[in-house]
Amino acid sequence: MSKVYLIGAGPGDPDLLTVKAERILRQVDVVLYDRLVGPEVLLLAKPEAELIYAGKQEGEQENMQQVIFDLMLSYARAGKTVARLKGGDACVFGRGGEEWRFLARHAIEVEVIPGVSSALAAPALAGVPLTFRGLARGFAVVTGHSSGAIRWEDYARVDTLVVLMGVHERDRIAQALICAGRPAHEPAVFVERSTTPQERVIETTLGEVAAGAVAVESPAVFVMGAVAALRAELVAAVREETAA
Ligand code: SAH
Repeated sequence: MSKVYLIGAGPGDPDLLTVKAERILRQVDVVLYDRLVGPEVLLLAKPEAELIYAGKQEGEQENMQQVIFDLMLSYARAGKTVARLKGGDACVFGRGGEEWRFLARHAIEVEVIPGVSSALAAPALAGVPLTFRGLARGFAVVTGHSSGAIRWEDYARVDTLVVLMGVHERDRIAQALICAGRPAHEPAVFVERSTTPQERVIETTLGEVAAGAVAVESPAVFVMGAVAALRAELVAAVREETAA
């Protein structure tokens, strides 16, 4: 019976794949994978499985999305089981919901296998708990892509704010958030390439980001709020102690 599994592959480290995702990956006939899926995750597929890169580059999004829709449909209709593998969680950005709806409209069975989203994992692994009693009662996750279309005042009041796809527009995002009421001295952290050997954590403030003073490369998670200052106590202090 053909079926498409919409699988979240986690932020990169294959150890952060769910047990279910690993089990299904070992069984499927076809794996359609995105740009942010870690290479080691793909090694779990059976040797005869077809691995197809289905990532999108800036500018070619719409064409590529149509190609991905068509590929999923044709493999499913040919009776194959397909893993549609996305970085993090498949239903957090990355158009997983749209792919699901497309398949549903074509009467293709879909099973979602949730993944560990970088929105949650990258801050936590960097020593930034998204909630913390007395500091943060809640958090929001927002895209920084086409930041001009976002009503930043809606996000200025949440305790912890996590911005994905915000590297390119980081200066403008920080400026807009400060204008909307977030303090310029608010602590902020960028986590670049979380859970990979190239991971880099940058501690800063919203004001420094707004001033264009922070060098960051994509992909990175941008997190701000009082909890961003906890990193010093939770992670950095222990590292210094062990290094000494
Ligand atoms: N579905 C994904 C998000 C896709 S949007 C998830 O749940 O994680 C792509 C954005 O996610 C990137 O621009 C970046 O902000 C973030 N991202 C994904 N993987 C990351 C990683 N390993 N390290 C840092 N940021 C990451």
